[in-house]
Amino acid sequence: MAEENQNLRTPIVCVMGHVDHGKTTLLDQIRGTAIVKGEAGAITQHIGATEVPIDVIVEKCGDKRLADKFIVPGLLFIDTPGHHAFTTLRSRGGSLADLAVVVVDINEGFKPQTIESLNILKRFKTPFIVVTNKIDRILGWQVHKGESFLSTYKKQTPEVQALFEQKFYDVIGHLYEQGFSADRFDRVTDFQKTLGVIPISGLTGEGIPDVLMILLGLAQRFLESSLQYDINGPGVGTVLEVKEEKGLGTTIDVILYDGTLKKGDTVVIGRLGEPIVTKVRALLKPRELSEIRYESKFQPIPEAAAAAGVKISAPDIDDALAGAPIISATPETLDAVIEKVKSEIDDVQIQTDTD
Ligand code: GDP
Repeated sequence: MAEENQNLRTPIVCVMGHVDHGKTTLLDQIRGTAIVKGEAGAITQHIGATEVPIDVIVEKCGDKRLADKFIVPGLLFIDTPGHHAFTTLRSRGGSLADLAVVVVDINEGFKPQTIESLNILKRFKTPFIVVTNKIDRILGWQVHKGESFLSTYKKQTPEVQALFEQKFYDVIGHLYEQGFSADRFDRVTDFQKTLGVIPISGLTGEGIPDVLMILLGLAQRFLESSLQYDINGPGVGTVLEVKEEKGLGTTIDVILYDGTLKKGDTVVIGRLGEPIVTKVRALLKPRELSEIRYESKFQPIPEAAAAAGVKISAPDIDDALAGAPIISATPETLDAVIEKVKSEIDDVQIQTDTD
């Protein structure tokens, strides 16, 4: 990879869409992708997220030259589809996700949550793609596991292709009705003007290489400046969940999107009213499956750098707010950081009130 890649963090990707349209299956397929490839340890399990590194994506897409073209280190998928913190709460004046995937069942078409997802993304100006899922369910479809869409499409009979086109262009029509100019991803020349739509099967993996490639392309094209980060800067993240863990007490799961967070750091966390000021007692990541001899599912780490999903154990965090900011501070910056967190929480409340 090129030198200048060094300080770009991994973009955070959120999967959204109507219930049962296949969000979980798509995420499982993306996680499975790297494991099936036999590259042990190639994907990294974070707390609440899965990291697919660029090498795995390049391998999956079958073109090694791509590695030099891409400047982001990979993609960090949030494991919980349509997570509240990522979709309905404001953070940094927008959605926390850098990129999104909206899943639509090609056989069912648009549903209320599909439209809701599109509206949220439009409002936050988050670059996204739409995937029309479950193409394997189209009558007569012949499955070609894990192949790119165009490759499997070419192998279908003209009748199946016609049936596909009909369903696919129904979805494109619905997108137009919602105010989006959209087309099949391989026909899009400018992703800023036209929304790319990728036909996939989360179950068979067909079209998944295209999803990974197009997401990387979007990150490269639209996010370069927002992905620049200061690895030595304060840790900045968003609380995903507040959870009770056996032996640890109350913990918070955090997606870190800037800087580095260390054990012992003083952190400011948003809640209703005055922010929490506390110290990180432990930073934890998931323990490898092979290490079952340990009782705890979590492994302590000295520090974590963005982008990452980590669990934090700290005193006095019971009323931390999912979706709220968490920022590390020094004695010099503490007052300013408290003000910043407080104003972000006020913003969230105003936003929620006016919705
Ligand atoms: P979610 O609610 O959006 O997370 O949807 P799930 O991923 O749980 O999927 C709902 C159902 O659709 C499950 O029974 C899945 O097995 C099935 N499903 C999801 N994706 C596909 C697909 O691409 N093809 C087929 N045939 N079934 C799928």
